[in-house]
Amino acid sequence: MKSVLLLHTGGTLGMAGRRPTPLQPDTWSQAILTRVPELAELANIDTRILCNLDSSDIGPDEWGGLVDEIAAARASHDGMVVIHGTDTMAYTASALSFALSGLDRPVVLTGSQRPLGEIRTDARRNLVDAVDLATRDIPEVGVCFDGQLLRGNRASKGDAWAYAAFASPGCPPLARLGLDVEIGAHVRRPAGPFAADGRFDSRVAVYHVLPGMEPANLRRLAEGMRGLVLAAFGVGNVPMRTRAVATEVKRLVDDGVTVLVVTQARAGSVDLSLYANGVGLADAGAISGGDLGLEAAVTKLMHALARWPEEVAPRRQYLEADVAGERAAR
Ligand code: ASP
Repeated sequence: MKSVLLLHTGGTLGMAGRRPTPLQPDTWSQAILTRVPELAELANIDTRILCNLDSSDIGPDEWGGLVDEIAAARASHDGMVVIHGTDTMAYTASALSFALSGLDRPVVLTGSQRPLGEIRTDARRNLVDAVDLATRDIPEVGVCFDGQLLRGNRASKGDAWAYAAFASPGCPPLARLGLDVEIGAHVRRPAGPFAADGRFDSRVAVYHVLPGMEPANLRRLAEGMRGLVLAAFGVGNVPMRTRAVATEVKRLVDDGVTVLVVTQARAGSVDLSLYANGVGLADAGAISGGDLGLEAAVTKLMHALARWPEEVAPRRQYLEADVAGERAAR
């Protein structure tokens, strides 16, 4: 039988009511196997509590801790399940996908919209599905929710109410759990040897471009930042006629801020050569994020800035490349 490590970080799944409660490692692991005994039929389960936080409080420090735990657990476990709040699950999944290169086994994040102890909970199904998937040959970081496994760095929380809380626009599910488990042909294989690097530079801001925006706002927002994700219109367009956004972007780039452009549209890709209003951004030194989602763009930029704090060229090359299935290959 395969062995799976359950890493608990918090979120609604383990909450009593809507508030996080302090969990004791033994009590918690006993409780989960008592409440969901079928987990023990799927795998030998070990549990570990990393933290017990609302996921709004999870960020680069916790991502680094998870990376270390997962890297160490490779010696003893065939797969890992990370129990996590839904609010920032897509950020954590993206961050892990960049930090764990050459991943050779599944890392499955899951959680629930209703706590495990509540009637009509979705926690039981999500847990069982996640553990099942963690025993399979899916060497990727994924988000398991409502009968689907989504690529972690393509996932996004799209619904704060429904059990189908996540979507991955532009990337079909890695697996679907129905009568059987169907695994997609696009599941990635490890490229190169395993390496873990859990460093992230949190000095990254996001600017959502608005009609009539004041370009000087970019500078105010970027104060003290090393990276800026610019969520632009359509294929990467910004105001140009009376609001010289590209001029402000050039000033930021010249000051050493890495600017990564994503689209505000729910699907499609940035192309900074199609319209004059986007060409200006490319000329200013902004980098096209292609079809990167917001969560992937933010975490990839944080990772790139930490890995190459001074070296602009490799940082740019990394951001433009598809390293973990996060963007369509160019
Ligand atoms: N606020 C919770 C969290 O993200 C929501 C959830 O788990 O669904 O931790």
